[in-house]
Amino acid sequence: MLNEPVTQLKGVGDKFAESLADMNIHTVEDLLFYFPYRFDVFEIKPLSELIHDDKVTIEGRIVHEPSLTFFGKKKSRLTFNLEVENVAIKAVMFNRAFAKKQINAGDTITLTGKWDAHRLQITVSNYQKGPAADQAEIQPQYSLKGDVTNYKLKKLVQTAVKEYGNQIDEILPEHYLHTYKLPNRREAVATMHFPESRVALKHARRRFTYEEFLLFQLKMQLLRKIKRESTTGNAQHYDKQKVDGFIGDFPFKLTNAQEKSLIQILRDMESPYRMNRLLQGDVGSGKTAVAAICLFAALTAGKQGALMVPTEILAEQHYQSLTELFGERANIVLLTGSVKGKRRREMTVAIEDHSIDIVIGTHALIQDDVSFADLGFVIVDEQHRFGVEQRRILRDKGLNPDVLFMTATPIPRTLAITAFGDMDVSVIDEMPSGRKEVETYWAKENTIERIFNFIGKRVEEGEQAYIICPLIEESDKMDIQNAVDLYHQLEEYYADSVEVGLMHGRLSTDEKDGIMKDFAANKVQVLVSTTVVEVGVNVPNATIMVIYDAERFGLSQLHQLRGRVGRGDKQSYCILIADPKGEIGKERMRIMTETANGFELSEEDLKLRGPGDFFGKKQSGLPDFKVGDMIHDYRALETARQDAQEIVEKNLLEENASFYPLRIMLENDTFLHDKLD
Ligand code: ADP
Ligand code: MG
Repeated sequence: MLNEPVTQLKGVGDKFAESLADMNIHTVEDLLFYFPYRFDVFEIKPLSELIHDDKVTIEGRIVHEPSLTFFGKKKSRLTFNLEVENVAIKAVMFNRAFAKKQINAGDTITLTGKWDAHRLQITVSNYQKGPAADQAEIQPQYSLKGDVTNYKLKKLVQTAVKEYGNQIDEILPEHYLHTYKLPNRREAVATMHFPESRVALKHARRRFTYEEFLLFQLKMQLLRKIKRESTTGNAQHYDKQKVDGFIGDFPFKLTNAQEKSLIQILRDMESPYRMNRLLQGDVGSGKTAVAAICLFAALTAGKQGALMVPTEILAEQHYQSLTELFGERANIVLLTGSVKGKRRREMTVAIEDHSIDIVIGTHALIQDDVSFADLGFVIVDEQHRFGVEQRRILRDKGLNPDVLFMTATPIPRTLAITAFGDMDVSVIDEMPSGRKEVETYWAKENTIERIFNFIGKRVEEGEQAYIICPLIEESDKMDIQNAVDLYHQLEEYYADSVEVGLMHGRLSTDEKDGIMKDFAANKVQVLVSTTVVEVGVNVPNATIMVIYDAERFGLSQLHQLRGRVGRGDKQSYCILIADPKGEIGKERMRIMTETANGFELSEEDLKLRGPGDFFGKKQSGLPDFKVGDMIHDYRALETARQDAQEIVEKNLLEENASFYPLRIMLENDTFLHDKLD
């Protein structure tokens, strides 16, 4: 049986077993699925192709008996000459005195080690007697702990494969193996440890990558299905005609991407299940317009709607654009921390007796005193800025309301289908037509005068600029000092010709608000700011975004900041001031100047930073795949997702016998149980 303890295998003593346990190998099955983390490929190359300092493999005939010298306490050096392609090569082996007995003049030997092209010398890390053709080219390398050596583990796996290999049963239905040309499980396990060729190894890895991804996606899909079906009774029967009328009054036509997302959301609203959907779209792609239509649809179904955003400024902007779009059609209120006392009480009463249709607000709207008459539709903007608990509180203010999360931080598809596998995702991947791409430049700090000068000229033309000030790591107090200094510098530079404003996180809400209003009204032309300006602010007349220390931001954040400009019909500019030290930093700046599409950027960011860094290690919630790599194997991830979707939709796990092994596997998985508790 595969679940027998690994100590059943010959030669596994207590100490060895302990070390194996540290490596999470308890059963024979654990051992069989403990795959090497890499393979050393020993490939013999002609001497002329060997590169100095590389790890190489050569084959030759030993010319004379090796000589052994000892030095230090326990150290030894074994040297011998061998003849390779009629050239004399020197071999050096450290601390392997025992090898002297095995290596004899006249023998053919294969050596792997570091090549010194100047001295024609190899420092041996691995040797095999005999010519290279006689031995496996590809050597597994396992990650190890304690007493376990690579050699011992390899031998043990060999035994396990021989004695237990035929008990490994297939879990994937034949259909998939056939369609994707995957080797069967038994064969693939053996190949993962002892590949006969690189091609065979590639297919074995493909097989386990698919298996892992499929299991993961199945778990996510099942979770989503269970979550969905555990909610009932919120089918919103909206008035299609009225909704069409509402859209017809917009001063623009929806883009195809907006239309598609809208249809997906409305379909969810009509369904008896609770919607749990993420709407992704670049800044300015028109998410708010879509959100407005859905809110309106909810109203025609007799429900109330709520929109929660992370900052007051953003709340006010949403309030303005929504009141404009809705006109007389709805009673909309703005509920933020600044609404206090009697006004707040009046507002909460009106929300509770349904004289208010839509509430837009910050955290203020999830306080205890706010209760809705009939909250049917909830939108959370920039959802990653809220905690799980805050989102839950808002949701619980209604009876199973449909929930739409919105984000302007483009999440790479690869991550989205993995991290948000239990959510539905709509994507607006198209900009309204007529937008001009923001021209992006990368500059060094010594060109700053020229940049200030350029800003001055644009301001003369009636345009405006943001300058995001330098960052200091220690504290944001010092960042504020930087902002203040830069502000004074600019006031001096521009004298009376330009009005400069200053914004940072220590200002009161009223002060920030006042400055933003002055900027929006073009009373201030150049706004110096810390990154508080990042989210959602909309001043179409601003055409220049200067970002100091751009190398310190992630690509997605830079893209967010850049999204503050290019919102009107004038040509806009983004200037990144950066002096990155490493290659990756330079590459990132280059990508910024070349890529305007937020999704492409986020894919690049993901490749450069890796998935852990992308979300921040702690809260990533991303699975650790053993064989598959989310980034490189993203096609397989998508294929697996589609297959999982079909399996769950058609209920194949329950109804089709060939899925039985997969079902058993899932039933034994603790993941689902944990997530559902
Ligand atoms: P987002 O919320 O995704 O950042 P918004 O919904 O705020 O984007 O839209 C940005 C700007 O584009 C707004 O001024 C909005 O009126 C306008 N807009 C939205 N959709 C369209 C469209 N289909 N065609 C033209 N302009 C649009
Ligand atoms: Mg918006």
